[in-house]
Amino acid sequence: MTTDGSHGSGPVWDDRPWPPLPLLRERVEAGVCVVGLGASGLTAIGELLDLGVNVIGIDAAGVGSGAAGRNGGFLLAGTADFFHHAAAQMGADRAAALYRLTLDQLDRIWLETPQAVRRTGTLRIAVDRDEIEDCRVQMVALRQANLPVQPYNGREGPGLLFPMDASSQPLRRCRVLAGRARMRGARLYEHSPAIQIAGDRVVTPHGDVRCDAVIVAVDGGIERVLPELAGRARTARLQVVATAPAPEVDVPRPVYTRWGLEYWQQLPDKRVVLGGFRDLGGDREWTDQAMPTGPVQDELEIFLRRGIGVRAPITHRWAGVIAYTDDKLPIIEQVRDRVWAAGAYSGTGNVLGAVCGRALAQTIVTGRSLLDGVLLPSQRATTGLSV
Ligand SMILES: Cc1cc2nc3c(=O)[nH]c(=O)nc-3n(C[C@H](O)[C@H](O)[C@H](O)COP(=O)(O)OP(=O)(O)OC[C@H]3O[C@@H](n4cnc5c(N)ncnc54)[C@H](O)[C@@H]3O)c2cc1C
Repeated sequence: MTTDGSHGSGPVWDDRPWPPLPLLRERVEAGVCVVGLGASGLTAIGELLDLGVNVIGIDAAGVGSGAAGRNGGFLLAGTADFFHHAAAQMGADRAAALYRLTLDQLDRIWLETPQAVRRTGTLRIAVDRDEIEDCRVQMVALRQANLPVQPYNGREGPGLLFPMDASSQPLRRCRVLAGRARMRGARLYEHSPAIQIAGDRVVTPHGDVRCDAVIVAVDGGIERVLPELAGRARTARLQVVATAPAPEVDVPRPVYTRWGLEYWQQLPDKRVVLGGFRDLGGDREWTDQAMPTGPVQDELEIFLRRGIGVRAPITHRWAGVIAYTDDKLPIIEQVRDRVWAAGAYSGTGNVLGAVCGRALAQTIVTGRSLLDGVLLPSQRATTGLSV
């Protein structure tokens, strides 16, 4: 049920049976314990396995049960802020370096889970003169940094085409990553929430993990898992609908509009997935309750019919939670002795979260990472743990 009593469902992405993974019921030992089996945590696990680490992963619910398996499926280069805004925030060189790392990660995601990715490109469509001008400034900034972008003026409206972006089936991606990690020796547990986290021990209701280091890879609700992040990360809900096949429309690549607030894509079977209107939900959307609500769902339905022209019935209504930061840059840092955290991607974490997951794995093991000097300090007092 939604918070208003109307019916919610699971995400449209949950289209195949998933045999549940075990619950942690004993004391186990590992080099690194990863808390959170979304795409970021699973990518961290893959990197740890590459580095020869004995790794355990736990999730409070299931693989991809958070935003990672409930999102809009856009694989976007860059951060939540448009590139020129990010450049103003963090400096043009750092912003360009980070953008390139996400472009590289897009390629990696495509290569590692081709069954869950389509290289479609994405469109940013402007809704008014202000946004047209912002697109122009964004394009100039990207071109100055030699980053891929094209002007666009098609039936969706005027805007920008990002040729390297992609569309994903996000839950399938998580499940493929989890299956592969298990085959490579990672021990993964579902329905095993971390209720105490220290660098040498993660406690769950029925078991615990003894380890040398911990990665917390949680987006929405990260400030609840690690209360020291309260005040810097703030959790909000995003809502989505999906339809039955809608042959009456043709959406060749994912589209986002109104400064990224609304986003939709059409799947290979012609279903349409649409999210947005968080701002119209008001303060009620600052919550960690992943349930659809009447007002936002109504706006989505109106836009689906009038804005996109879809007549097919709505088959899925769902919500997910993510965390925002004031500067729209993710939190990626050591929060406690030997406890590292990544999250709060401000709504764009499918690609950036994977970069952050890999960076934390590298940092813990080698003391250096691909994000050094970009989102992590370039000089470290400590070297990597021997795990
Ligand atoms: C509706 C919606 C649409 C979105 N659309 C896009 C998009 O199109 N493109 C994009 O780039 N981003 C999008 N995002 C954001 C993106 O989904 C997230 O940033 C990203 O998926 C975060 O993945 P993650 O693995 O870091 O974290 P999460 O998905 O939050 O995974 C964390 C996992 O940790 C588990 N967990 C939480 N607490 C504990 C605990 N105490 N112990 C153990 N486990 C715990 C959770 O169950 C969860 O499975 C969207 C988000 C939503 C909600």
